[in-house]
Amino acid sequence: MTDSVTIKKPFDSHVHFRQGAMLRAVTPLTAAKFSRAVVMPNTDPPIETVDQAAEYKKEILGAMPQGSHCEPLMTVYLTKNLTAVEIEKGAKSNVCKIYGVKSYPYGATTNSQWGYRSILEAKEVLKKMEEVGMPLLLHGEVHMNESGGEVDPYEGERLFIEDILPRLLDSYPKLKISLEHLSTAVAADFIEKHGAEGRLVATITPHHLLYAREEAESRPLLRCKPLIKSKAEREKVRLLVKKGLPFVFAGTDSAPHPESKKFSATPAFGVFSAPVAIELYTQIFDELGVLNLLENFLSINGPNFYGLPPSEETITLVKKDWQVTEPVVTDEGEKVWPIGHKEHGLGNETLRWRVR
Ligand SMILES: [Zn+2]
Repeated sequence: MTDSVTIKKPFDSHVHFRQGAMLRAVTPLTAAKFSRAVVMPNTDPPIETVDQAAEYKKEILGAMPQGSHCEPLMTVYLTKNLTAVEIEKGAKSNVCKIYGVKSYPYGATTNSQWGYRSILEAKEVLKKMEEVGMPLLLHGEVHMNESGGEVDPYEGERLFIEDILPRLLDSYPKLKISLEHLSTAVAADFIEKHGAEGRLVATITPHHLLYAREEAESRPLLRCKPLIKSKAEREKVRLLVKKGLPFVFAGTDSAPHPESKKFSATPAFGVFSAPVAIELYTQIFDELGVLNLLENFLSINGPNFYGLPPSEETITLVKKDWQVTEPVVTDEGEKVWPIGHKEHGLGNETLRWRVR
């Protein structure tokens, strides 16, 4: 039985740091365990220029503890204000290189109201991204049908994979694309067939590997987009991970909200996992019997896609039961509950692995 594993320091290809007091509270948690993090731009207002990204990067670096080696990789939001000129500037910038452009479906998740109705409308920007090699990071869900009606949120990812993604791949044969937080069987099949290093990759969260719709629907802490799917879908996502493909890797999508927004009648979308994400991934890989694939998934495949070397530092995880008993508290006194918490998660949950 393996009870300890040492890997290169992980790479989080998808994290939300928010702003202000929340950012100051959560950034050190990611900085402690990850070598680099791709930072999502859905702040309010969104990050849509290189200068805004540079300002945001400063705020993030200011929240990192002294001596921290975690590098934030900045992104911009695909809004109608984003231009091809800005893409060119971001690709070349020494001060604040832009590592990707995030596309959100109109109206689908926190602060996503600035997006295009259809990604296919953003022709000039996509062409320029293809030319300079800047990745497109997709929240791959259809949220509204052509007549403006809401689609079943459990069907949104499937519709995107069947309708939009093939057209994107055809129209921009060299564009680097990452399908973020893959959550369905259809997406897993598509990526297994069409995924390719440096061209089409997918990231997977710990919560989409760990939980299922049956248990998630009544738990505010597990409410997120894409929604957590059925056990059968989760099995397909786990099988994809188990294949150890070089174009599949970790992106926590850690997305904190204060207690007041999470435990309300309409809980905000987003799972806060930064304090437990690496531990949960390790637990899942252990359950699947593929701990030997953990380092590629957490620490190698992600940097490869972004053209970066893996970390030279390492972390060690040990098999040791523990529970999350406290929330993170911001300097304004707001509580932020991570998943895995023994009262607010699924009830007396035990985590099996711990970072030493
Ligand atoms: Zn996200």
